[in-house]
Order: sequence, then C-alpha cells, then structure tokens
Amino acid sequence: MEIKTITICGGGNAAHAMIPIIRKHFSGQLNLFLPYGDEANHFQKLINEKRFLTATIKDDKLYGRPDKVSKFAKEVCQEADLILMPLPAFAHEHTLLKMVPYLKEDAIIGAIPARSGFEYAALKILKDNHKEKVKIFGMQTLPWACRITEYAISVNILGKKKSVGMAAFPHQITSELSSFLSHVLDLKIEPLPNMLTLTLANVGQIIHPGIMYGLFKGKEQKKYKEDEIPLFYQGVTKEIATTLKAISDEILVLTEKIKVRNKNINLDYVLGLKDWLIYSYESSIADQSTLQNCFTTNQAYQGLRAPVKKENDYFVPDFQARYLTEDVPFGLVVIKSIAQLAEVQTPVIDEIILTISQWMQKEYIKGGFLKGKDIKDARIPQNYGIKNLEEITIY
Ligand code: NAD
Repeated sequence: MEIKTITICGGGNAAHAMIPIIRKHFSGQLNLFLPYGDEANHFQKLINEKRFLTATIKDDKLYGRPDKVSKFAKEVCQEADLILMPLPAFAHEHTLLKMVPYLKEDAIIGAIPARSGFEYAALKILKDNHKEKVKIFGMQTLPWACRITEYAISVNILGKKKSVGMAAFPHQITSELSSFLSHVLDLKIEPLPNMLTLTLANVGQIIHPGIMYGLFKGKEQKKYKEDEIPLFYQGVTKEIATTLKAISDEILVLTEKIKVRNKNINLDYVLGLKDWLIYSYESSIADQSTLQNCFTTNQAYQGLRAPVKKENDYFVPDFQARYLTEDVPFGLVVIKSIAQLAEVQTPVIDEIILTISQWMQKEYIKGGFLKGKDIKDARIPQNYGIKNLEEITIY
C-alpha cells in the first residue's frame, strides 16, 4: 500500500484536529477538499500567508497546514491515494457524489467516524459510477474530542481515546491500512473483522438519543436558565442508565441472532455499552461499578451540557442537534432496519425512535414498520437495494 497523497474532506472540528496530527507523521502531499460555504477561502489564506494551524493537546502544541485546498474535487481528489472524511454522517453521501468521478481506481476512502451503514451508501455510489475497485473503510468513533478555537487558525484537542476500531472492505486491506492510520493519526487503531461491526458497535447511537430521551421525555417544553441547562453525561440518572442498558442489550440480542444465522461472521468486537466505556476510557472513569457511574465519574465527560437553543431569556432543548439528526437516521433507525431483516424485536429502540422522530418532526416508523415518510433519508440497507441479512454480512 503506497500512500503518497492524502485528501481530507471537510473543514470542521475533526478536520482541524487531523491536519497538524497528520502533518507531523506524514511527509507526502496533504490536500483539503472543502466544497462547503467559504471554508476553502480561509484555508487558502493560511497557505498563501504560509502560516500554520495550531492544535493544542494539553501542554503540547502541533503545527501544520495542507499543501493544497480547493472547493472542487477535481483539483484535490484526483491524485489522492487515501481520502479521509471526518464529517457528520448526513454529509457522507453528497460529499462522495462530488468526489466519485475523480477518484483514482485504487483509491481508499473512509469515514471517521463511520456511524451506521456507511458501506451501504458508499458501495452503491462506487458501483453506480463504475468505481468498484475503490476500497472503503470506517472508524468506530472519532479519536478525539475537539473544538475549533479560531477557524483555520487553531483547534483545541480536549481528549484522545486510548484506541479506536477500524474496519475496511475488502477485508484484506484492514491490517495494512490500520497500521498506516495508526502511524499518521498517532493512535492505536484496532483492526475490526467487518463493517457490520461498526454499525452494531456504534455507541453514539445508544448514548446520544438515549440520554436525550431520558433528559427531555415529558419535559419537551421546559425552559432553562443558563445555569440550569442539564449536564449531559453527568446528568445520567439510574433510570437513564437503565434505558441505555436496554438499548445496548437489544443490539446484543440482534448481534447474537446474526451470529446464529451466519456462523462464519465474527462479531466478537460488538461490546455492551458498559464494557465499551471501560475499554475506551479506562483510567478516566473513577468508579466503574455501575453504568451510571461510568458516565457520571468519567473525567472526559465532565461539564458537558445537553444541546439547547436560546429562546428569549431562556434555553430550550435543541431537537435539531447532531445528537439526534445524526444518531437517529444514521444510527438507531439502521439498527431497527437490520433487526427487521433478522426478525428481532426492539421495543425500547422503537419507543425511542418514535418519540425522538416527533421531536425532530420526522417520521421513520409507521404502523410498526419502517415505512414513514422520511425513511428515504435514513441510511438503512433497504434504501440501497439490500433486502436480506446475508448480503449485509458480506461487508
Ligand atoms: P463539524 O460540525 O465541526 O464539521 C462539519 C464539517 O462538515 C463542516 O465544516 C463542513 O466542512 C462539513 N459539512 C459538509 N456537509 C455538511 C452539512 N450538511 N452540514 C454541516 N457540515 C457539513 O463536525 P465535527 O465536530 O468535526 O464532527 C465530525 C464527526 O465527528 C461527526 O460525525 C461528529 O458527530 C463526530 N464527533 C465529533 C466529536 C468532536 O469532539 N468534535 C466527538 C465525537 C464525534
């Protein structure tokens, strides 16, 4: 695997964190594809003025800038051996569509994080555009918690995970690609056996909608003063922890059913939520005795508040926040769709999707089935022509 040119897509928090990290560990060409708004202009200015983007990680600072930036895929994707998409899941498809005509035959393209069902959309787009040789991968989560402090100038990396899972298709490239990504992202990357693991082990789809449901169900209209905005992770009560465990357990039951149906598939890396928290955050959790305590005593989660928006002098829950718009149609709804194919009941997940869909003014489930008017926008396998469980387990 020879990677001479890397192109990063998008100019958000995650892309800002990646640029100085990759620059430190990769001496090849580093491009940036920024089709959104005027993002490209900001980075072009950085290049023109020969300044650097600064990433602050605790007491350490890293500096870097891309070699080339463009609003147009033709200018920054044609040479790319590896394309990284640190984007919200709802941006994956239209970004892929812009790039696909220009992808090299043997390029590798991946989503960081993948969220659920990335492979269904990516492989369909590649096939429709006769680019079947392009390889894909996804990472289970974003390795860092990061926030831009000044656009195209500085980013704060608040925390870094101990290790992040990565799966690729075709599977043969996983080991070599994970070694390469470990090196350039400066992080332990755990090779995962298949992309289905990424979907089943997508913890964001449990944590984000699950906590929002627990915090705001029955309190949808409540107004909060600034100092009353609920803490998100530290706000996990015993009852919310019970809901989170129930979602996680339904996904584990689905995982077991898939294993029974397909004896050859390795889904050993799909962990229960508590086990995943302990595995990923290890020393930053002070008390690992209960799931609730894994949230409330996790140093990495301290002080983060629930998403709200300002209304006059008060704050109200923000039901258009990424925690819902990303983690429901590109998360829980995908799980529900796979559960339907596997004939597994998911009553808790259904209740959460139904309640949150109303908050978001969307309709995914109708009459108990994924037949709501907005289901076309969810990344379920059925929307990409996949109609049975066997096909899903190939990837
Ligand atoms: P962000 O909002 O900072 O970045 C979004 C970028 O995506 C934009 O700058 C733009 O370049 C691009 N984009 C393309 N289409 C878009 C659209 N329709 N709407 C908005 N942006 C669009 O996001 P981020 O914080 O960099 O997060 C990237 C991914 O990482 C998301 O999946 C997020 O959930 C996940 N994540 C982020 C963090 C974090 O700390 N930032 C932590 C965990 C997971």
